[in-house]
Amino acid sequence: MTDTLPPADTTSTDAPSFAQLGLNARILANIARAGYAMPSPIQALAIPPILAGKDVEALSRTGSGKTAAFALPLLQRLLAAPRPTTTEQEGAPGMVRTLILSPTRELASQTASAIRTCAHGCQLMIGLAIGGVPKDRQTRALRGGADILVATPGRLLDHLADRTIGLDATTCLVLDEADRMLELGFIEDIQAIAERLPTRHQTLLFSATMPPAVATLGRRLLHRPLHIAPPEATSPPPRIRQQVAFVAATRKNATLIALLKRDTPDRVMVFTRTKQASDSLARALVSAGLPAAALHGDHGQARRDRTLASFRRGTLRVLVATDVMARGIDIEDVMLVVNFDVPEQPETYIHRIGRTARAGRRGTALSLCAPEERQLLREIERQTSARITAIDPT
Ligand code: AMP
Repeated sequence: MTDTLPPADTTSTDAPSFAQLGLNARILANIARAGYAMPSPIQALAIPPILAGKDVEALSRTGSGKTAAFALPLLQRLLAAPRPTTTEQEGAPGMVRTLILSPTRELASQTASAIRTCAHGCQLMIGLAIGGVPKDRQTRALRGGADILVATPGRLLDHLADRTIGLDATTCLVLDEADRMLELGFIEDIQAIAERLPTRHQTLLFSATMPPAVATLGRRLLHRPLHIAPPEATSPPPRIRQQVAFVAATRKNATLIALLKRDTPDRVMVFTRTKQASDSLARALVSAGLPAAALHGDHGQARRDRTLASFRRGTLRVLVATDVMARGIDIEDVMLVVNFDVPEQPETYIHRIGRTARAGRRGTALSLCAPEERQLLREIERQTSARITAIDPT
């Protein structure tokens, strides 16, 4: 592996090692296997309290190493605690020991596979419960329970209603990308799920932003939590070159096509505000001979998986996505992010451009800004203290 996330504190020789954070030899061996040399800032801050069983509320972007920040200590805790023995009755719900809730199917599958890597050789059952795939096969797999279950809220509630699984013995709940889950309307589902857990359990909340609704959820579900915000969580990574091209809205298609025809980096992600816009832009790019496709929630799961797989492989070089879809997708080597429209929220801008320059790499973020969007751009510059350089797109 060539991941090179910056270590926790590059300016000091006191940056802790994974061993100093309290992880044991078993877990350290898997970290070495994954090729991680030093903990990232979020890992350095979150691993010790999670290991100690505390509730944690952490501000963290995807790309910061947050999955390992919760997965590593939770695996160590699961290995240390014996699996509770139940009198297994025929038809009894499968027992889930740790539950991770994710906003989207893509993020859930990605998280499950990252955890499987961290759990190599640990003989733990890592399950996945997501919509968009037939329930029967999932049901069969989950009947025996899971040490860690990664799930999207809707499908999890289905399995709970069917009594495929139960949360009576669940000792830890992780809410990943809590802000996104709330934006997608999962607040009631989350509450309903949390109520199914035993009173005493550990809760971890990870979120890229902390709007009031997330803070309220945190107050409701977390017990005397430790609040964590590594400095990198609140500003875009410095390795991203931020650019803007001022063009009329009607010229955006032609401008983007010309730019990409001149030089198509290996992986480009283009963001549009709406699903319709992403479809029509992808069509325009394809007609211009560019290897592009749209990715959004109206496409069936199989199609979304295929699109993502070809983008990962590099056969599809331009992915045109909506914010909901792109959020949390961990694809390395995205060289260029294009904001086809200037996002209305500075947080969205940070999420979008965070798709590039992941794991210590460099990247460029280009916003196409029409005259009527200049005010939005100024607001982004003000709130994120970003230095966005104007370029001539012609
Ligand atoms: P995440 O924020 O969990 O989506 O992780 C982003 C990427 O960073 C993933 O590809 C991880 O494999 C990688 N990563 C996580 N922790 C480290 C680390 N300590 N050193 C290097 N890479 C890491």
